[in-house]
Amino acid sequence: MRIDLISIFPDYFAPLELSLVGKAVSSGLVELGVHDLRTWTHDRHRTVDDTPYGGGAGMVMMPQPWGEALDELVPPEAQPTLILPTPSGQLFTQSLAAELAEQDWLLFGCGRYEGIDARVAEHAATRMRVIEVSLGDYVLNGGEVAALAIVEAVVRLLPGVLGNPESLAEESHGADLDGLLEYPMYTKPAQWRGLEVPPVLLSGHHEQVATWRAEQSRQRTAQRRPDLLQGPN
Ligand code: SAM
Repeated sequence: MRIDLISIFPDYFAPLELSLVGKAVSSGLVELGVHDLRTWTHDRHRTVDDTPYGGGAGMVMMPQPWGEALDELVPPEAQPTLILPTPSGQLFTQSLAAELAEQDWLLFGCGRYEGIDARVAEHAATRMRVIEVSLGDYVLNGGEVAALAIVEAVVRLLPGVLGNPESLAEESHGADLDGLLEYPMYTKPAQWRGLEVPPVLLSGHHEQVATWRAEQSRQRTAQRRPDLLQGPN
């Protein structure tokens, strides 16, 4: 998979050199490109923002550097998926992560200030798939943290990235658990500070363990995220 990230703060993406994503990059499973949006400015101050039409506080990212960045990075016949993180986008979910993990090329456009001029998404959609994605119902300062989260959630699903692919089974929000939350997990010791591991997990009865976990998963979801009981997103 190829992943390109465009931002005015390319240093934000240094953590992508670490851990499993870093290994996926160094082993060649993921080809990563980080681009400074200011490369496509032409004035002395390398300006990327201007005041909003219609008035109001804050600044808006100008379409010109974004347009030129996309022109240069995406050849005419290429078909990446352009992901624009924004609090007004569709909610990022595990099922969207799984769908993005099937793509050959993801390109991220990270907004700052009050966001990117809306014509950038509109124009890009005439020649590539564009999805505006929200990390959740809150506002961040920029799209970089959202892009990092999306990249991590997607890359860990790529074959060969996790040492043990079975780690992907029975995870919260996944199809194995019907989109519910994962059951509680425990490790050694069996007693710790007066707290015991539920005895069924020490019993060796696989069926009973599976039944207990399914029930815990359902109970935990009902308590914490009743909205998920409708099924996977
Ligand atoms: N004025 C925008 C609004 O009210 O929707 C918020 C702009 S925010 C301060 C700046 C940038 O941060 C956005 O353009 C987007 O790239 C990113 N961002 C903020 N919150 C986000 C979220 N919940 N999900 C994804 N990206 C987000």
